[in-house]
Amino acid sequence: MKRRNFIKNASLSGVGFAIGSTITNCTEKSTDKKVISSIDKSTLPLVIATWDVPNATTKAWETLQHGKSVLDAVEQGCMIEEADLKNSSVGNGGLPDRDGIVTLDSCIMNSKGDCGAVVYLQNITHAVAIARKVMEDTPHVMLAGRGAEQFAYEIGFEKENLLTDTSKKAWETWKEKSEYKPIINIENHDTIGMLAIDKNGDICGACTTSGLAYKMSGRVGDSPIIGSGLFVDNEIGAAVATGLGEEVVKTVGSFLVVELMRQGKSPQEACEEAISRIVNKPNSNYKNFQVGYIAVNKRGETGAYSIHQGFSMTKYQEGKNENIQSDFFLKEEK
Ligand code: ASP
Repeated sequence: MKRRNFIKNASLSGVGFAIGSTITNCTEKSTDKKVISSIDKSTLPLVIATWDVPNATTKAWETLQHGKSVLDAVEQGCMIEEADLKNSSVGNGGLPDRDGIVTLDSCIMNSKGDCGAVVYLQNITHAVAIARKVMEDTPHVMLAGRGAEQFAYEIGFEKENLLTDTSKKAWETWKEKSEYKPIINIENHDTIGMLAIDKNGDICGACTTSGLAYKMSGRVGDSPIIGSGLFVDNEIGAAVATGLGEEVVKTVGSFLVVELMRQGKSPQEACEEAISRIVNKPNSNYKNFQVGYIAVNKRGETGAYSIHQGFSMTKYQEGKNENIQSDFFLKEEK
C-alpha cells in the first residue's frame, strides 16, 4: 500500500471515531444544555478575526454565503492574509527568523473536535491549508519542519520563496544591531486567528502566523498549539490568541478562555480573566509584551481583550463587517 493511501485510511477511521463520540457528548451532557438551547440563530452566521483584517473576514463570510462549510470559511479567510505580501507576520512576506528564514506555524480545529497543525513549515504559503490536510488526511494532529513540507509537496503544493525583498531588507536592517525585542502591536497586520459559526451554530477556528520576527531558529509559538493559540468546543464556544506566544503557552490561554465560558463567563469576561492570569503572575514582565484574545460563545456573543492598547477584532455579522477596538488592561499607558 502506498504511504499516502495508508495515511488516508488511518485518518478516516480516526474521524469516524471522533464523530461518534461528539454526538454522544452533545446529547448526554446535561451541564451544557443551557448554553446549547440558547443559540440565537438570527445573529448567525458570524465571523471574527484578530486585528484589522476586513478582506479575510469578507472571504470567510462569502464562503459561508456560497453554501460552503464553516471549516472552509476559516481556512479561506486565513488564506487571504497568508497570500498578502504586505502582511509581514503571516504566510508569504512574513518576517524571517534571525537566520533570514521564514517559518510558518498554523492550526485548525473543527466543530467535531478534530484538529491539525503544522510548525516550522518553510517554502509553502498556505500553512493553514496544510494544517487542514494534516487533520483530514493523516492519523496525526501535527507535522513539523521538513516532514510538514514534504507532506505539502506530496499533496500537490509547490515550493515558493516566502522571503520578499521588503522582508529581506527589514531583516538586514535588524541584523545591524541584532536586538531582540517582542513587537507590541504591528499596525493592521499580525497573526490571524479566525473563528466562525455557521447558521446551525457549528463553530470552527484557525490560526496562522510566521511567528515572532527575528525569533531564534527553530522557535515555535502558541499559534499552532491546540489549546494555546486556538481552541474550539462546539458545545461552548471558541477562542484564539495573538501576541507573545510564550506567555500564551504558559497559561494554555485559548483553552482557558473556553473553559471559563463553560463555567458561565461571557466571552468578554473570559478573555479578561485569561489576560489577568498573565499579568498577575509573579514577576510578570507584561508591560513589555502584548497578548490579545478574541472569543465567541455558542450564543454568538463575542469578546476581545488585550494587555496593551492597540489590539482589535474584525467582526462580520448580520451583513456588517467592522473593526472593533479591544478593551485593554494597561489603562495608565499613553
Ligand atoms: N502569537 C504569535 C507567536 O508567538 C505571534 C503573534 O501573534 O504576533 O508566534
